[in-house]
Parts: sequence; C-alpha cells; structure tokens
Amino acid sequence: MTIGVLGGGQLGRMIALAGYTLGQRFVFLDPGAESSAGHVGNLRVGAYDDEERLSELARKSDVVTYEFENVPVGSARFLNELVRVYPPPRALEVSQDRLDEKQFFASMRIPTAGFAAVSSQAELEAAVAKLGLPAVLKTRRFGYDGKGQWILRTQDDVARAWEALGAASLVLEAFVPFERELSILAVRSTRGETRFWPLVENEHRDGILRLSMPKSDAWTPELQARAEAYAANVLAELDYVGVLAIELFLVGDELVANEMAPRVHNSGHWTIEGAETSQFENHVRAILGMPLGSTRTIGACAMINAIGRLPPQGDVLAVEGAHLHAYGKDGAPGRKVGHVTVRAETKRELAEKLEKLLPIVDPQGVAPASMRQAR
Ligand code: AMP
Repeated sequence: MTIGVLGGGQLGRMIALAGYTLGQRFVFLDPGAESSAGHVGNLRVGAYDDEERLSELARKSDVVTYEFENVPVGSARFLNELVRVYPPPRALEVSQDRLDEKQFFASMRIPTAGFAAVSSQAELEAAVAKLGLPAVLKTRRFGYDGKGQWILRTQDDVARAWEALGAASLVLEAFVPFERELSILAVRSTRGETRFWPLVENEHRDGILRLSMPKSDAWTPELQARAEAYAANVLAELDYVGVLAIELFLVGDELVANEMAPRVHNSGHWTIEGAETSQFENHVRAILGMPLGSTRTIGACAMINAIGRLPPQGDVLAVEGAHLHAYGKDGAPGRKVGHVTVRAETKRELAEKLEKLLPIVDPQGVAPASMRQAR
C-alpha cells in the first residue's frame, strides 16, 4: 500500500519509519522542500490547499493520513472525496478550534476548564467577570506549544492581552490549578478495534513539552479507566481511525481535558522503545485495517525532547539504554529537533540514567521537577 501523508515533519518521518517494517510506502505533501520526512520518503512540495497537488497525492495513495493538525479542513474534505482519509476530517475540524473542541468535550460530558467565547473587549470583560482571575486567554485557532495565549492575573493583564490578541477570535479559560499534566493516547482501527497506552505524565517549560514519562503504576486503575473512557467516547463519537491524543490536567483526583490532537503525539514518542507497539506502528496498522498491536510497556522509560539543538551524540549514546532520534532539522530556538528515550529495568535505574541525560539533552531544564517524576 502507499500511504499519503499531509505534513512532512518529524511525526510523518516516524510514521514512515514504522510503516516501512510493515512493507508500506509513503508519499508526503508539505510546503517546505527541506521537510524532515523528505529524507525518508517521497516528498511532494506544495501548499496544503493546492488542489492539483492534493489530487496528485490522492492518485498516488491508497489511504491518506495527516501528521499536522493545521491542515485546512477543506483540503482533508477535498481529499476524502477521492481517497480514504483517516482520521476523519471532522476530527481535524473539532481540534482546530479551541472553542469547538471545548464544546465538543462538554457535549461528551468530559470535564474541561470553564470557558467563554471572546470576540470583543466587552465579551472579554464579561468572561473575566464570569470565570474570575487568573484565567488564560487563547486564540481559538493556530495555537501550539503555548503560542497565542496569555495568562491573565490582574485587570492590567486583561487590557494588555486584549491589545496583543484582540484582533483574533479568542476563548477565555478559567485557570486550572493542576498538579500534573497527563495525556492519554488511544488508537482505533478501521475495524473498530481500540487500544490505549498507559497515562503519560508530561512536563512543559515555556509552553513546550520537555519530558514525558509513562507511569502505569503511579495512578489508580480508576484514573486510567476514566481517561480511557473519555478517549473511547471521543473515538466512538467521531468514528475515529488512527491515533488520538488527549491532553489532561490532573487536579486532585479529577481529570480535566485541555485539548486533543487527531494524530500521533509528542507525548507518545517513548512508545517506540518503551511499548510493545509504538504509536506510529499502531497508527499505520489502524488506518490499513490490520490487527492492532499490544500497548503494554516494557520496563520503565522516559522521553526528553531536544529543543533548539541536538545534544552531543556521543554523550547521549554513552548512557546505556538511551536512544537518540534526530529529525534531520536545522537547530533554531524553540524548535523540536530530536528526542531521546531512555529505558531501564527499574524506576530507580531510570532515575539514575535521567540524572545523567537531563543535563546533556535539556541543559536549561529544571532537573528537580523532572527527578520528582522519576522517584
Ligand atoms: P495549550 O496550548 O492549550 O496546550 O497550553 C499550553 C500549556 O499552558 C499547557 O500545557 C498548560 O501548562 C498551560 N495551560 C493551558 N491552559 C491552561 C489552563 N486553563 N489553566 C492552567 N494552565 C493552562
């Protein structure tokens, strides 16, 4: 089969690397000629809304998926007339707009932060009065890695944020005093088979994911079951096919949904070495209607993102159990250029390895918080 992929970033690259072992072929469409997936597959360069390019992608592909969630929904729908597109374009549509996404969660009885739509200064003031401060003001569309959002703590912040973001369609969210940030990764195949990986704890800095750690034994089975039930509802409601990630806040023993990503997700990169079947392989299996693989974890593991620059290769690889993934991208501030997954037999051994790796991979990192996760 040939799998067409909208987007040629590292997620597409890792989908292809997993799909090759199953004998599949890949063709990517991305506006950038230097895209990371182009090093490992056939890259067509073109805009996501270029109908000629989209038609070409459909002709070359048995099935199309995407690895970038800001692909225009119209393009996914256009393709869907010509070839099977998974996940369904509706999933893309819901996740592209933070207001629709929150309303969608609410309609599924999945808890979210309190929220209100904001399109004028008067609405912002009314929303602040309703939700209180602190609150988080976000653009409805095209926000990622903490971009397009402001934390409002005082009335002065409210005025300043309106000046900065006021032209866009916005949503105000109540500030969630979370203890931890988690994510649940799920997968559903064309045959309706579903699997879930264990809840992952995620640590962000400056709005960017730094460290992910699956910790199946740190939370109660009830918490895992609840996260799975939320994800299962979303999968069923959208007649979803492929991998889905939902980012959650843990507040006491409550799970509050922040956002969802209709694609393989950075907080699932650890599954390449740390799970029986990776998110990338199960995504390929799901969209091709193959049986899904086990999501069982193998030992203890953690994933550290390489942001801005790649760590010295030799230093990383000298740590037993460390696996370096370089995306073939140039370094730039804030850019994800690779990641390191480290695996160990025990949690204690994992903590020791992290102590060596964190200063190498994430030198600006706040090691104590990360270590708290390991212990
Ligand atoms: P997002 O772009 O929605 O994923 O937000 C980026 C990060 O901002 C999240 O990972 C949280 O750390 C923080 N954040 C977002 N929304 C809220 C909220 N309503 N309350 C508290 N923190 C938030």
